[in-house]
Amino acid sequence: MGKTAYFTDDLFLEHNTGDRHPENYRRLVAIREALERQDFFGRLLPLSRRVATAEEIALNHDPQYVDQVADFCRTRGGLLDADTVVSTKSYDAAALSVGAGLEAADRILAGEVDRALLLLRPPGHHSLRTRAMGFCLFNNIAITARYLQSRGLDRIAILDWDVHHGNGTEASFYSDPEVLFISTHQYPFYPGTGAATDRGEGAGLGTTLNIPMAGGSDDADYRSAFENQVFPALQEFRPSVLLISAGFDAHRRDPLASINLTTEFFEWATARVLEIAREHSAGRVISFLEGGYDLSALAECVSAHAAALSA
Ligand SMILES: [Zn+2]
Repeated sequence: MGKTAYFTDDLFLEHNTGDRHPENYRRLVAIREALERQDFFGRLLPLSRRVATAEEIALNHDPQYVDQVADFCRTRGGLLDADTVVSTKSYDAAALSVGAGLEAADRILAGEVDRALLLLRPPGHHSLRTRAMGFCLFNNIAITARYLQSRGLDRIAILDWDVHHGNGTEASFYSDPEVLFISTHQYPFYPGTGAATDRGEGAGLGTTLNIPMAGGSDDADYRSAFENQVFPALQEFRPSVLLISAGFDAHRRDPLASINLTTEFFEWATARVLEIAREHSAGRVISFLEGGYDLSALAECVSAHAAALSA
């Protein structure tokens, strides 16, 4: 069966983006309330709190950018880009988000847990090496992948099913053949990248798989894309560990996008990914929360995802 860990923290609620911003603290409150009601919640093992150092964040970011974000947050806060708002606690919350990925990686490498569910804010997958973008400060999943590489792991798979293309993560590993990046996303849509013809470059040609989905796509369309493209690519790559950028903004009730997935899709996809991880990756999966902006849909989807992940 194996063990599933989880992490969340009140500091994430203090990344204050304002009540009218879609990526606000209420998202995590809703998720936590729903999760705590589930029978399986008591079986999840809490991860220790770990704050990433600036050097660890710099595994995927320019050190100067890391310092700039820290200074900007701590001195005044405000807009880091057109839609990325930070407050005085945002750097600390972001460093704790990054640290959660590193702690999960260490516990998995030590064989103490097999899977981890990280319920974080701010999210990460749009964040670039030198730039905040799309509600994201630091790229939590990319930093964890780099950290796992630094600890000797190769063949790391990242599956990003957030409704938006994970442009930041793609950029980090575009020429790296040891990291398979797979993204399903509404297209054309924010942030504008993620065409099917973008497949990596140099030694990394072929280890980026973009699967654009038309607005209005539903469970049947997504199941077909997963069965025909996502799962075969994962099975062929045989990853040593599988990381998920778990956004739930492709749900049909989400206000920011127009994909029509049900909660059941995410449960099904999680269960199938876990089967593949058990076959090829010693069951090792780390899930990072990305988007999802309808509070009740988000809470339902994370509960279904967590149920399947911990089964
Ligand atoms: Zn998103």
